[in-house]
Amino acid sequence: MKIPVNEPLLDGNEEKYLLECIRSGWVSSEGPFIKEFENKFAKYIGREFGVAVSSGSGALDIAVQALKIGAGDEVIMPTLTIISPAQSVIRAGAKPVLIDSDSKTLNMDVSQIEAKITSKTKAILVAHLYGLPVDMDPILELCKKYKLYLIEDAAEMHGQTYKGKMCGSFGDISIFSFYPNKHITTGEGGMIMVDNPELDKRCRKLRDLAFEPKERRFVHRELGWNYRMTNMQAALGLAQLEKIKDHIIKKRDIGNAYQKNLREIQGFQLPLVKTEYAENIYWVFTLVADTQELCENTMAKLSIEGIGTRPFFWCMHEQPVFKDLGLFIGEKYPVAERLARNGFYIPSGLGLNLENIKYITDSLLIIGASKI
Ligand SMILES: *Cc1c(COP(=O)(O)O)cnc(C)c1O
Repeated sequence: MKIPVNEPLLDGNEEKYLLECIRSGWVSSEGPFIKEFENKFAKYIGREFGVAVSSGSGALDIAVQALKIGAGDEVIMPTLTIISPAQSVIRAGAKPVLIDSDSKTLNMDVSQIEAKITSKTKAILVAHLYGLPVDMDPILELCKKYKLYLIEDAAEMHGQTYKGKMCGSFGDISIFSFYPNKHITTGEGGMIMVDNPELDKRCRKLRDLAFEPKERRFVHRELGWNYRMTNMQAALGLAQLEKIKDHIIKKRDIGNAYQKNLREIQGFQLPLVKTEYAENIYWVFTLVADTQELCENTMAKLSIEGIGTRPFFWCMHEQPVFKDLGLFIGEKYPVAERLARNGFYIPSGLGLNLENIKYITDSLLIIGASKI
């Protein structure tokens, strides 16, 4: 692929801090960069505590267990997102209750949530997708009214705000991912954000095999995971965090250049530039084709031109693995089903340059005009 769908940018202190790990011998999760990265990222998001973990998906596993969500409980979440949150909830023995998407913001349709709340509902899990945050005020109200926990999946939203307040600052537990296609990366990694000191302690314990602080070592009272982050990952994270403002500006520049070059394109819905409550941060640049055929043909054609693309997430109610478990049988979410079939995104990694953008948009305009 001449232009991969993502390329990270590692042009700050990454090398220097990594060398420090190697020279000092601090490579494990006991190293000093972990605390520094946790504290600085928590401060950036405006939270009391950050708990660094080995992935965003691991952060979600811990979030569900830390809130003691289990058998008999329901968690409301979007059907269209990555599999991680549904997987965490199902593994915990609880049931995901799904919500359709909003066709414009690509996020879950907040107006459909209240009708799905039952006496079993324990939490609402919000995932901000692709670049725009979910409309949080109505959700915060529902959580208050029905006494529900809020889990916030802000894996794609580093530095994005909702009405001026940081994404990742809303949840009882919020999580981030530092996979290489996110605004900052640690290679693999994630962070749990909380304000409550008890929850902070609980999350730290669960990421560390649930060792008991006061018990004899290797005596356990609960199941946990080894989801620790290494000092080397935190070294990358610190260097990336120093440049997060530049990364966000660059991502928005890429998004704006695409918007400008593609404004005349036929057959595709471009992402919203903004909503009442946020400007798009363009985690990725999305295109929703008028038909599934146009979507698939366009991705194939771009691939021949050396341009990498990715389809949208696939709906939870259409996942073979969940069907096999007898879940979501007969459920239908028409907007999300259409977005999953017709949506894809084009390269927008931080390594992308203006020439790449012109090449990509020229190719797309020809495809759009001919509609293949
Ligand atoms: C990337 C992502 C995750 C998972 O993060 P990993 O670090 O890859 O496990 C979770 N939720 C959303 C919405 C994501 O985009």
